[in-house]
Amino acid sequence: MSDSLECTLLPQSHSDNPDPSLGWVEAVHPVLVFLYRDIRSTNSLTDQHLGTLLGVLGLAVVEETLDLLDNGFPVTYYVTPQGQGLYHVPSHRGRHFYTLLPRTGLCSCEAFTKTMTSGDSQQICKHLLLVYLQSALRKITTQFITLSQYLNFLMNEWVI
Ligand SMILES: [Zn+2]
Repeated sequence: MSDSLECTLLPQSHSDNPDPSLGWVEAVHPVLVFLYRDIRSTNSLTDQHLGTLLGVLGLAVVEETLDLLDNGFPVTYYVTPQGQGLYHVPSHRGRHFYTLLPRTGLCSCEAFTKTMTSGDSQQICKHLLLVYLQSALRKITTQFITLSQYLNFLMNEWVI
């Protein structure tokens, strides 16, 4: 695990302040911030953690995320020297990747776009939840890219 991922997800902030890059998690449910810290500090995902996730998010998204977790496809965090970062999360069959922006909690998948446009306040998809869990479990690989490569990743996903 590199220092840069650490900085992105848990910047040097006062311990009584919520992590700003976890703002999207807190917007879904504040208990997810505490859960993240607990999983991270114990480096394990227990039945109790899963029970909390099920209670907050419901069965469907948790089940789909655990499927992705079991698949073992790697989640990669790409970061520029200037500190802009994004995640690539494999699709269910591992044939292509979705792009996630960590600070805003945006995912390029269809399910996420649907919840955005339907005004659903629980804006979370299995890819966001996978990044959340993989990050808490310190399993994300970091790769350094140039600013130009970063912009290309964004262009490929969001610019028509
Ligand atoms: Zn998604």
